[in-house]
Amino acid sequence: MSDPIIIAGGGPVGLLLSLELGRAGVPSVVLEKRPGHHEDERVGTFHSRLVEIFRERGLMEALGETPPWPAVHFGMVWLDLSKLESEYNLLVSQTKIEQLLESRAAELGADIRRGHTVTGFEQDEAGVTVRVTGGEAGAYELRGAYLVGCDGVDSTVRELAGIGVTRSGKSWYGVMGDFESYDGEFDAGVRPGGVFGALPEGTGRWRLQTLEFDIDGPPESEPVTVEELVSNIKRLTGETKVVGEPLWMRRYSGTTQLAERYQEGRVFLAGEAAHYYVPTASHGLNTGLSDAVNLGWKLAAAVRGRAPEGLLESYHAERHPAGYRACQAAQAQMALIHPLEKVAALREVFQELVGIEEVNRRLVTWSTDIRYELGDGEPAGSLVGRRVPHVPLRTAAGESGTGELLGGGRGVLLVLDEEFAVPSGSESRVDVVRAEPVAELEASALLLRPDGYIAWAGSGAEAEGLKSALDAWFGGASGS
Ligand SMILES: Cc1cc2nc3c(=O)[nH]c(=O)nc-3n(C[C@H](O)[C@H](O)[C@H](O)COP(=O)(O)OP(=O)(O)OC[C@H]3O[C@@H](n4cnc5c(N)ncnc54)[C@H](O)[C@@H]3O)c2cc1C
Repeated sequence: MSDPIIIAGGGPVGLLLSLELGRAGVPSVVLEKRPGHHEDERVGTFHSRLVEIFRERGLMEALGETPPWPAVHFGMVWLDLSKLESEYNLLVSQTKIEQLLESRAAELGADIRRGHTVTGFEQDEAGVTVRVTGGEAGAYELRGAYLVGCDGVDSTVRELAGIGVTRSGKSWYGVMGDFESYDGEFDAGVRPGGVFGALPEGTGRWRLQTLEFDIDGPPESEPVTVEELVSNIKRLTGETKVVGEPLWMRRYSGTTQLAERYQEGRVFLAGEAAHYYVPTASHGLNTGLSDAVNLGWKLAAAVRGRAPEGLLESYHAERHPAGYRACQAAQAQMALIHPLEKVAALREVFQELVGIEEVNRRLVTWSTDIRYELGDGEPAGSLVGRRVPHVPLRTAAGESGTGELLGGGRGVLLVLDEEFAVPSGSESRVDVVRAEPVAELEASALLLRPDGYIAWAGSGAEAEGLKSALDAWFGGASGS
């Protein structure tokens, strides 16, 4: 049995990564310094790409109630989600996501150790030795094949790996929480100091959120209080409000930061350890979970000795630009919000521009519809490099969908033309599935990676380029 993959940090990103490894039958150890789960009910705006990912893994139903959340904005300029059929948002509690991912990862064999903190590591050619505090002995060493830092914004792994971060733009500070009562009205407005949101949640409860720019909040060591929130609201709105008992409350602050690289030898970064930006952009979780899905199958292939040359390096090549794009969108949004007196005209222009359908579409999907450079100079409209859309299919085995095909965690050669000649040796590397042609996928065959990305698409009966795409992503047939 190979050494496990060690994951520092059992937040949503670390837990999804361990689940991905479990699906591929690869052992992992998750080291999480928190003894329990977060108690907050931070909601995630869960977008359609993530729904696809969760569906493929059979996780959607277990999330329970996931109300739709049609309000999407770019820097508090409202966008129209109803114009885009494939795009929607759901509201999902992050605590629920973490609990679900943890229980599924554990079912698949992940060794999840809470109350265990990564304090150091050394890597060599064969693996990584990680130093941990916690457990019965108080401290121990653990040997792994690879180490992944999913340990959040102040990542210890990132620092010890010597990976720098690029910090840029305004700093932000805010408080968010749910409260038993509030003596105000619905609010979702931009103010000179930042943004204030007050959303009634039924049964008299309110979700309140403040966000201010270029001011320092109290030090992290000080617990967040209702008084702090009330004074933030006063600074933003000029009004003194009465806020009832908190059900949970959280303070957040920071500046945009992007790791300079996502890999250092056998050490990788994912989630907020790699990219961190203002939560009003509502995509942090989405970008992080997409990192985990991208990295999981590649690490699994490497541990099994099946990774073709360059497969692990493709993680940085694909996900660093995605992280950059998410940071860029978050910064652009802050620039549209603050300082209000300087950006009011820009907001008016922007408001008019988002009425153009293509602008609306581009902004809704800016950080979520990520295309990788997979083909050799593929034209812009090509399917290659995109995530396969969720499309119903009629296969020889019956009704199915593109998502279901990926449920096994393997690559898939989807053949939509009965004349198409499948190259010999394909079956040993990917699942070969024949289905009736569908209008949404204009190709005679498509090669899907386990993360749902289209690595190759061909038309006609010939499989030109397919053999090299299979070699590039799944290794030579002998390695299968
Ligand atoms: C108020 C707020 C609202 C948000 N809303 C949204 C939203 O609507 N949509 C969205 O997509 N995103 C949202 N986000 C962002 C989202 O919560 C984060 O992107 C997400 O939690 C990042 O997950 P992660 O696993 O990378 O990091 P984290 O959740 O920070 O997890 C990192 C884990 O590593 C552990 N750790 C740290 N150091 C060590 C160590 N040395 N050893 C072991 N463990 C360690 C920590 O205890 C932590 O559990 C919001 C964030 C905030 C603050």
